[in-house]
Amino acid sequence: MRHRNSIFPGLAFAISAILTTPTLAGDNLSTGSTRGRLTLTCLEIPDYGRGAGLAVVIQTPGGKTFLYDSGSGYPTKDGKGWEGNYNAGRDAILPFLRAKGITSIDGVLISHGHFDHFGGLLWLVDHATIPKLIDSGYSFRGGHSSELAAYENLRNRFKKVPGAYVEAHTGDMVQLDPALKVEVLFPPHEYFQGNPLRTHKKDTPEHYLPNANSLGIRITHGDVVFLLPGDVQVTEQVEVLLPRIAPEKLRCNILVAPAHGIDAAPEFAQATHPEVTIASASGRYATWSATPKVYGGLGSRVFVTGTHGRVSVISDGKSYTLDVEREPAKPLFREDSEFKTSARQ
Ligand SMILES: [Zn+2]
Repeated sequence: MRHRNSIFPGLAFAISAILTTPTLAGDNLSTGSTRGRLTLTCLEIPDYGRGAGLAVVIQTPGGKTFLYDSGSGYPTKDGKGWEGNYNAGRDAILPFLRAKGITSIDGVLISHGHFDHFGGLLWLVDHATIPKLIDSGYSFRGGHSSELAAYENLRNRFKKVPGAYVEAHTGDMVQLDPALKVEVLFPPHEYFQGNPLRTHKKDTPEHYLPNANSLGIRITHGDVVFLLPGDVQVTEQVEVLLPRIAPEKLRCNILVAPAHGIDAAPEFAQATHPEVTIASASGRYATWSATPKVYGGLGSRVFVTGTHGRVSVISDGKSYTLDVEREPAKPLFREDSEFKTSARQ
């Protein structure tokens, strides 16, 4: 159902770009305060040839705003622009914040160092005040990926500012808002070191280990529980997470599907058993998504951003409502949907 709020009192913009950047999208959104409610919004990252990204805006009951991942942004080879002329920080997050009357970002959690998750922050960090970065601290050793190096550089910018960087691991509590319990489920301090038997075609350690060491969090707002597991892929969902995490920590009401929900492990779906599952995938990745079949088969309501657009869940701590941008013209489930191992996550 649609959810409307009162107008948020105008405050001085902490994000200078909000004042100067033309509206790109989303001005028809409801605006205003979410005080007392937790609103978690999964933005739509369009398909421009690079596949899925993830950007989640968390508006806390106390009026703060955090990001869990910042959507995609792939620097061009000359370093002067963005592939597809798209950066989610500029083109998805900023317009959303403007439309909501949100004037500052209180912190950013980045699940892992891939461009489809931190690319938006590459732009935001130069156009907004970002007081805090929280991540798992994972650094892949042994590779020379410019992508991973770009994230290291970004993380180091925060490390240079006292108190601006927080490394979080299993069992840590992240302070976002007194009304929320935000527990880090993974990775552990010693990190997942990989599986020599892993044979997932075309999936190198340089790719799957940062995914497997995603910062996975569980947000509890009263009776409503959200699970955000980053890009932990199906192999590690089953072989790494399920044996190590207590079943009651995995159960949730709302799941942001791991690894964009392109593939889906039935065992992980059973363990989490969400009422609502949101897969952030667009274009062919949305078409290939196994989430409608696997999670929908368990009775979960499934939303795929490439089909439904922006999806918001609004919790009052006892129950929640949904605000979904568009309804699909036809059911999500396709008998011919298939998983491609070449999919980047
Ligand atoms: Zn991803």
